[in-house]
Amino acid sequence: MKTLQELTRPNIWKLKPYSSARDEYKGVTASVFLDANENPYNLPFNRYPDPMQHDLKAALGRIKHVKPEQIFLGNGSDEAIDLLFRAFCEPGCDNVVAIDPTYGMYQVCADVNDVEYRKVLLDHQFQFTADALLAAADERTKLIFLCSPNNPTGNDLLHAQIESLLTRFDGLVVVDEAYIDFSSLSSFATMLDRYSNLIVLQTFSKAWGCAAIRLGMAFASPDIIGILSKIKYPYNVNQLTQQQAFEILERYDEIEHWVDTIKMERTNLMKRFEGLACVLRVFPSDANFFLVRVNDACALYNYLVGEGIIVRNRHSVSLCGNCLRITVGTAQENERLMEALANYVD
Ligand SMILES: *Cc1c(COP(=O)(O)O)cnc(C)c1O
Repeated sequence: MKTLQELTRPNIWKLKPYSSARDEYKGVTASVFLDANENPYNLPFNRYPDPMQHDLKAALGRIKHVKPEQIFLGNGSDEAIDLLFRAFCEPGCDNVVAIDPTYGMYQVCADVNDVEYRKVLLDHQFQFTADALLAAADERTKLIFLCSPNNPTGNDLLHAQIESLLTRFDGLVVVDEAYIDFSSLSSFATMLDRYSNLIVLQTFSKAWGCAAIRLGMAFASPDIIGILSKIKYPYNVNQLTQQQAFEILERYDEIEHWVDTIKMERTNLMKRFEGLACVLRVFPSDANFFLVRVNDACALYNYLVGEGIIVRNRHSVSLCGNCLRITVGTAQENERLMEALANYVD
């Protein structure tokens, strides 16, 4: 791996971060706060939140088996993705490599930051090889984006290939694990001590049922986390979000129960899709959604919209011609979908 200084944009490496009032006072027990120009009335919303989310990171670290200094928290994983570009990729000069198809935000953030986005097509099992990604990379490649389980294809990527890439690539490897709770494979977050170029993304938005609070996590070496923390907005995770995150962490057993139920529903739903006349192929899934190839994705999509049921049309995505992406819902929602499909005449 190149040194972190070689990988970081020079302006970011040199940057002296904004120091907020709540940053400067640390640890000391105090009860009178006259440092941040806050209004003394309207408790508890009058106070700025903890800019580094210490308590939340401590609680999360226990659940995820990582150290608090290996955690970055942001306004959704999308903030972490954007900050990775801003920290490591010089606009108009550096590039990133990603599998294709995958989550659309990597390319959007690349385009916003004027960073070349190089796509490497997955094979027909929706898998990649480290060789193919490395062949697309050059000395200006700072980041490689992987997503496992992948969106929209739904499958786990091969862990042996991910490890091969981590060993051989001299830049940073981002493994987006937004759907890891639905997979039978273990998280790469346990490998942080082995690979200093590894960045794992997870989110409160999927298995944890908290898309509304906008909270995403990045796990990486303390040095990488330090760089992301230095360039984030000082109060990027608001107090309401931090509070709600604590509450859901206390209900961790409930999350496990949701995940089990969703996986069971996924199995049922996929089996029933296999029997439909309009379905050509149901692709295997390690996530809370699955991809299905039908004879006419646009026609079926429009029919379902007419029935008040929204799925995701992925027809125009690489390797996903005539494919719909179906999120697994509650038993009742899934039943509504199957009833509508039973009445569909193509
Ligand atoms: C849904 C999703 C996310 C979550 O993004 P948030 O900003 O945390 O809501 C991240 N990555 C992938 C691949 C996703 O599908």
